[in-house]
Amino acid sequence: MKIDLNIETTGDGTVVCAHCGATLGDSVQAPTTHALRHERPAEAAGPGVKADPALFADRQILLRQTFCPDCLVCLSTEITPGDEPVYRQWVLS
Ligand SMILES: [Zn+2]
Repeated sequence: MKIDLNIETTGDGTVVCAHCGATLGDSVQAPTTHALRHERPAEAAGPGVKADPALFADRQILLRQTFCPDCLVCLSTEITPGDEPVYRQWVLS
């Protein structure tokens, strides 16, 4: 089943990259367990982040991205408070 342009599930429920077939998660309850995660200052998102986030928030704001471990396609991008203990993510049921 196609989840989005980059992610699909196989017949046994494994979540894989739609481009190269690499396993991203062992089940739909943990769909990106094997994805690569990268965290940088929010300004690394590019020219769309023009002001220092410290001007608007007391918490550190980060750019978080996940990638396929094989072909490195970007699976998700978010700008979020850095002290959040886990990545926000979707869960299939
Ligand atoms: Zn891939």
